[in-house]
Amino acid sequence: MANIEMKNLVKQYGDGFAAVNDVSLDIAEGEFMILVGPSGCGKSTLLRMIVGLEDISDGDLLIGGERVNDLAPRDRDLAMVFQNYALYPHLTVYENIAFPLRLAKDLSSDEIDAKVREASKTLELDEHLDRKPGNLSGGQRQRVAMGRAIVRDAKAFLFDEPLSNLDAKLRGQMRTEISRLQRKLGVTTVYVTHDQTEALTLGDRVAVLKKGILQQVATPRELYDHPINLFVAGFIGSPPMNFMPARISGDKIELPFVTMTLTKQMAERAAGHELLIAGVRPEHFEDADLADPDKIHGRARFSADVDVIEWLGNEQYAYIPFEAPPAVAQKLAELESDLDGESTRTQIVVSLDSSSQVQMGGRADLVMDASKMHLFVPETGENLTVIPAAEPEAAHVTV
Ligand code: ATP
Repeated sequence: MANIEMKNLVKQYGDGFAAVNDVSLDIAEGEFMILVGPSGCGKSTLLRMIVGLEDISDGDLLIGGERVNDLAPRDRDLAMVFQNYALYPHLTVYENIAFPLRLAKDLSSDEIDAKVREASKTLELDEHLDRKPGNLSGGQRQRVAMGRAIVRDAKAFLFDEPLSNLDAKLRGQMRTEISRLQRKLGVTTVYVTHDQTEALTLGDRVAVLKKGILQQVATPRELYDHPINLFVAGFIGSPPMNFMPARISGDKIELPFVTMTLTKQMAERAAGHELLIAGVRPEHFEDADLADPDKIHGRARFSADVDVIEWLGNEQYAYIPFEAPPAVAQKLAELESDLDGESTRTQIVVSLDSSSQVQMGGRADLVMDASKMHLFVPETGENLTVIPAAEPEAAHVTV
């Protein structure tokens, strides 16, 4: 096991295009790091640079403190676990796991046997050693693929979208399996995905990339609660964060549905901006009739016309359209294209309790937890509510 350090890594293809642009990222020994972002953001290229399948145009890559830029893939001691597991169908589970050891040629058959049996015990594959991959479940196949990585005593495991071909149910099961095994083995892991749910559920930390540039590296909770910019805010979370125009006038902030007063600290941060983009997650709205009166403090109350209701059993989503000024509408359209078409239409989606009686086509009385509101600068995407760690966290508005 080893740590991985990336220092200002750049990958420039022949046409001069920087698929990876000045990425610096430290992955600790034993850490589970996710590289996530929409299609084309450079996450696969970055993984391939780590494993040695792609040359590094600039910057340094260190594995276990050693600079490996010029080492061939086989000398980097990393184990890549591929999307289709790349198992040999004609070989038994035992032989599939033993395969990389037999290639190494410097181990006796007793030594190989000991390593295969130890790995299969860890992976609970002992009973399946004589079976062929075709007869195994998806989860068992995944474990065989990991077994092959384990016996090599690799310094790190690298996964490139291993679950993207599976149906939703199996994907959920495999996600749990990978998470359980990674924690059990405590091996440094780099995992590429475009799926923000996988990123949030699996990673110790998540690195979000956009067009080759690292946007934010943080724990899933930190990313969700304190996204550094509009892109991260829109990418992380499902349904996505709602974005609305926010007109600023002194310490007043006017959203499409409600006007509030900014705290002194936020008014200072918002000074000089007439128009910001407010971001509020769907779960930070509630049906006013169901809101706990003891917790209503700090919540903005408003009524709005409901366009569509989606009832999901445990909750329901109400879709509420609004008018956005052209500057905001254009920014949201740009964001939508950056996010691969994730919906950021000029409407909000609010998540309501399944018992709410709000009707499709009707008027709804809602409350919004304004303390959870983010404020973004349209031109740069910067999140003005991300308070530097040194400053105490405070509410943004009073209502
Ligand atoms: P996906 O999820 O679609 O695989 P990704 O985030 O993994 O996307 P990469 O495959 O790393 O993205 O590609 C990053 C960028 O580099 C893309 O814009 C892609 O077109 C470009 N790219 C990848 N390989 C090459 C190449 N061999 N020559 C030129 N450009 C390339």
